[in-house]
Amino acid sequence: MSRIRLLPEILASQVAAGEVVERPASVVKELVENSIDAGARKIEVVIRRGGISLVRVVDDGCGMDRDDALLSLERHATSKIRTAADLAAIATLGFRGEALPSIASVSRFRLTTREPEAIAGTEIIVAGGRIETVRDGGEAPGTQVEVRSIFYNLPARRKFLRSENTESRNIEHQLHLQATGHPEIAFAFVRDDRIAFQLPVAASLLERIRDLHGTGLVERLLPVEEPSASARIRIRGLIGQAGVSRHGRAQQLVFVNGRAIESPVLTAALREGYHTALMKGQFPVTFLFLDLDPSAVDVNVHPAKREVRFRDPAGVREAVVETIRKTLESGRRDWQQQFQRPVTLGAATENVAGIAIVPHPAELEPGGLPDGPGDWVNRPSLAIRPQFVEPALPSVGPGEGGGLAPAEGRIDIASAGNQFQIIGILNKLYVLMENESGLVLVDQHAAHERILFEELRRRMEEQGVPSQRLLLAQTFELAPRDAEWVERNTATLQKMGIGIEPFGQNAFKIDSLPTFLEVSDPVSFMRKVIDGLKSASNGSSPLRLGEDMIAKTVCRHAVKANDPLGYLEVEKLISDLLECDLPYCCPHGRPTMIQISLAELEKKFGRKV
Ligand code: ADP
Ligand code: MG
Repeated sequence: MSRIRLLPEILASQVAAGEVVERPASVVKELVENSIDAGARKIEVVIRRGGISLVRVVDDGCGMDRDDALLSLERHATSKIRTAADLAAIATLGFRGEALPSIASVSRFRLTTREPEAIAGTEIIVAGGRIETVRDGGEAPGTQVEVRSIFYNLPARRKFLRSENTESRNIEHQLHLQATGHPEIAFAFVRDDRIAFQLPVAASLLERIRDLHGTGLVERLLPVEEPSASARIRIRGLIGQAGVSRHGRAQQLVFVNGRAIESPVLTAALREGYHTALMKGQFPVTFLFLDLDPSAVDVNVHPAKREVRFRDPAGVREAVVETIRKTLESGRRDWQQQFQRPVTLGAATENVAGIAIVPHPAELEPGGLPDGPGDWVNRPSLAIRPQFVEPALPSVGPGEGGGLAPAEGRIDIASAGNQFQIIGILNKLYVLMENESGLVLVDQHAAHERILFEELRRRMEEQGVPSQRLLLAQTFELAPRDAEWVERNTATLQKMGIGIEPFGQNAFKIDSLPTFLEVSDPVSFMRKVIDGLKSASNGSSPLRLGEDMIAKTVCRHAVKANDPLGYLEVEKLISDLLECDLPYCCPHGRPTMIQISLAELEKKFGRKV
């Protein structure tokens, strides 16, 4: 007797649902995608109890006539592709024709739909895949899909659902993805009879992100610059400045041709693009949109269409890395501008002017500038705003009147057109400064690391890091895989000031190390470097390898947290920092400076609500 049988239609749908419908959030995803494909301008999502008891998606899209509505519930029924050629260039979010029948086979399902011009709409009720009712329904133009009691007929699947809270959060994340991908569509989300969010049509991505996440985040985002026109890939969107990061991936969004996707290739590219601007274990904030020729991406590789395959993954990766790098560096200009406008004599100075915090000239070394640790440490803290450099800026804050004589110890560093006023040092570590926007705190240790890092990187790129001969060359052996890695990267290691060469089977000789390193045991140092770099370097370029090594070793060399610095040293530190490519974070991604705006201060002091 034959053992092979065709599955009944409903069972086949339930099998397909195993892939497409993992949890209520997948239902939301499929339904919202259908609404977007239907040209909706407004989408409302209602859920109850984490979507387990109810998911309802209502749109004002094109709707369906009765025949299409019935057909839409058949497996492999779709209006979005017709031929194999269409599959190679998909422009819609859906194309598999599986979502509706799958969802309907594992829930109590109700579809009502009406085309804008039609006199009557259609209502179809399905339970566990069986159509129970088809009748006229007089709803507003558009489509409404209601999914109740998900997995009611598959107790085994139901058990895999998480808590209502977790399922709710998954749904909310899914809606964030869709809403970010489509600012031109209004969204409303109602959870357990409460409005969770309501997003009006947004004029831009920025506006949508502001509505979703607030102005605080928007202020810390950088617009992504267009790469050259010849590029076969267009990258746009917004990304967090250096130093902005999160503990999880919830705000690491990447869209490929309008589709939110998860891709190891892109995740790696984002990390590499941020590189030293990202703290270990943290994730960047990105709202990044990649537009490629549809034929350059295969979207038909994942049942829930969460992943894609690129025809040229290396090219995509490189484009993303470069775009992120350039964007981060462009962010520096904005930051620097804050230091290039004169420190206005605003509210702060107004208060201060009357109080005698100006050091009496006699407190200053006669004829000399205060320098050396003693100046910071021993003086009463108010006296550390010495009368300094060029008498004063010509510009006095507008409207302040000449009365507020600029003579009161402000420090304007003209060197690179940067203007800031050093106020003092907190806890032997944080430099307090005033700039046009308010208060700036600089972590002098982190700042020094960044400066040193960029200096060494420049040297490495230009002529290689200077190295110092070891008194005794040393030889050592490595495991075959490590040996192979060293052989492949010898040139880079040499540029980094490490004099290493093969010395027989799996053995190497090392005879010099970078001058700036103080290493007592070169061999164990080398083993550590190789370990560290090997894991960091999977697929990244030699240059980045060098950066990693500098970032990892530079720390020892940097100013220790509480080394007391003299005034001139601090001033130089700040000027050097402002000249860096990425001044606002150390090579490990920690912030070097924190700006507290006057507005924030006013809020804190209750001057402004
Ligand atoms: P797919 O989206 O892959 O085509 P679905 O099962 O999700 O498959 O939907 C089947 C078809 O039903 C779609 O191709 C579309 O024509 C129609 N449809 C589904 N949802 C809507 C909707 N909200 N508005 C209009 N038509 C829809
Ligand atoms: Mg669909």
